[in-house]
Amino acid sequence: MTTPGSYDIEALRAEFPILQRTVGEAGAPLVYLDNTATSQTPDCVVRAIVDGYTRTKANVHRGVHTLSQEATDAQEATRRRVQTFIGAESHEEIIFTRGTTEAINLVASSYCSLLSPGDEIIVTVMEHHSDIVPWQLAAERHGLRLRAIPLREGTSELDLDAFAAMLGERTRVVAFTAVSNVLGTVNPVRRIVDMAHAAGAVVLVDAAQAVAHERIDVRAWDADFIAFSSHKMYGPTGIGVLYGRRDLLDRMPPYQGGGEMISHVDIARSTWAELPFKFEAGTPDFVGIAAFHAAIDWLERTGIERIAAHEHELLVLAESLMDELPGVRIYGRAPGKCAIISFLMGPDASAYDIGMLLDQMGIAVRTGHHCAQPLMHALGVAGVARASFAAYNTADEVHRFVDALRRIHRIFRL
Ligand code: PLP
Repeated sequence: MTTPGSYDIEALRAEFPILQRTVGEAGAPLVYLDNTATSQTPDCVVRAIVDGYTRTKANVHRGVHTLSQEATDAQEATRRRVQTFIGAESHEEIIFTRGTTEAINLVASSYCSLLSPGDEIIVTVMEHHSDIVPWQLAAERHGLRLRAIPLREGTSELDLDAFAAMLGERTRVVAFTAVSNVLGTVNPVRRIVDMAHAAGAVVLVDAAQAVAHERIDVRAWDADFIAFSSHKMYGPTGIGVLYGRRDLLDRMPPYQGGGEMISHVDIARSTWAELPFKFEAGTPDFVGIAAFHAAIDWLERTGIERIAAHEHELLVLAESLMDELPGVRIYGRAPGKCAIISFLMGPDASAYDIGMLLDQMGIAVRTGHHCAQPLMHALGVAGVARASFAAYNTADEVHRFVDALRRIHRIFRL
């Protein structure tokens, strides 16, 4: 099997048992190109999950017995692993959530309760719904105004002049994605953060699509909040991270109540636990959190930069082959974009048709609005098909994908 990249792709693929699967009636070998939605999980992470259930399962923070202490130690070791992974100052700034969505909801719900009617939140037109709807809910609850940075006319990039014009004395929060899950555009995080800070706003960066493709450094970004999900970085499902600047987290009220988030409870009132536990109500997915450690280790062992370079080579190959197919339109051509290709084919094939036909040939892509309806409106489409690459994809898979597009092309006589 030929493939670009500087690691042993066959050995790497062997770590992912799911890649041996076949799909569809014809029993085609799976080509998994839906990595933006979720990435697959290597054996070492699966083994860590099995280990958690078969060796150390006991609720965290509540027991003096050995198993509970081991489970607690494993969870807290992951917290410190995340801290060093993103370069946070303290492990107390790392809050475990169910995912990016819950992390953003936490900030929108808690931080926005400190704001006043008429204050403004700025998002972008390329946000995932998870970085729009929580702010809408907060805006309705507290009388805030929500605005969105548009795309620069004729490009896949944010219009930062429009952003500059939007910033004002009522701007309190700027929330934006580091990487678009549809266009693949890599936004200039530090520049946007600096502009927002200069206007006195706090910044949340949605790093869901960035975290497995570029090294996140809290200090380099200088963001106040960062959200990401384990399942998009080869880790277990149902676990996310909210990084928050300590002074802000200290000022924010709890998001949910119950469990270990208290210091003391009376019927009339309660007081709150220290960070990070103030924001971690109820029993967390401690088995998954412990296994998340193995995923971060795997990611760093494989090398985020090497993975990104590998994915980039696949992207260049796929786009150059797709450009030769008449009727194929690719949405998102920003320089330096991530390995995400959103596309449509001719006037007759809907994104759904493309996805269904590719599936019959064993190729998994995602279709639809990708939880980015405002962006779909801006692009003037109802939906797109999306192929996205990860560490384990190969050049042969790219060729199979493009061959399948050629067949679809013939079916629709595009
Ligand atoms: N933000 C972006 C940019 C995403 O791509 C996604 C998921 O695709 C999310 C947020 C939501 O992530 P999760 O469903 O893991 O909470």
